[in-house]
Amino acid sequence: MADEKNEKNEKDTAPGFMNPVAGFGVTFKAMFKKRLTEQYPEQPKTTAPRFHGRHQLNRHPDGLEKCVGCELCAWACPADAIYVEGADNTEEERYSPGERYGRVYQINYARCILCGLCIEACPTRALTMTNEFELADSSRANLIYTKEQLLAGLEEGMVDSPHSIFPGMDEQDYYRGLVTEAAPGTERQVAVSKGERPEEQGADA
Ligand code: SF4
Ligand code: SF4
Repeated sequence: MADEKNEKNEKDTAPGFMNPVAGFGVTFKAMFKKRLTEQYPEQPKTTAPRFHGRHQLNRHPDGLEKCVGCELCAWACPADAIYVEGADNTEEERYSPGERYGRVYQINYARCILCGLCIEACPTRALTMTNEFELADSSRANLIYTKEQLLAGLEEGMVDSPHSIFPGMDEQDYYRGLVTEAAPGTERQVAVSKGERPEEQGADA
């Protein structure tokens, strides 16, 4: 057995006439294979449905934020890429249905390895990942995404936070799926509180 092995090793290492050109065989075979060149960015490839791309901070169906500022995502992150500062909601300024919300939320994409551990750690499904992968930038500062950049857009029936919770509902009702859209009058309430439609303040009273 040992003799066979030695013989094989000698064959492998023995200089031969064809050895200098043998490597070109690989090149020659590759010339006839189907090309795998992707025409990016002209023809961007569609990602797999569960691809780990840019993060998103989700909202409840009435527009209030799902993030409760617990920092579990930041603690789960192996690259220390997430920074969260939570704060208390008040009745005058409410961003989420419960006691706390994420006042500051940042993800540093110069650090993030898109592993998805943060979204697994999030107890409220506030944090998920989108299929967006075009995150490159020439500035480190631009790679730090803020809460405003990460917050999901408003869908039909949503009103931007801050605003009151749906009348007659509590935080648990939001997670039970009982709130399906913003309460009637929420939009006006937000506008008035921002001073955008002061003339209607009198009309409401
Ligand atoms: S995807 Fe991974 S590396 Fe990126 S922020 Fe989440 S836990 Fe951190
Ligand atoms: S995204 Fe989720 S885990 Fe992170 S602070 Fe908000 S609620 Fe907590």
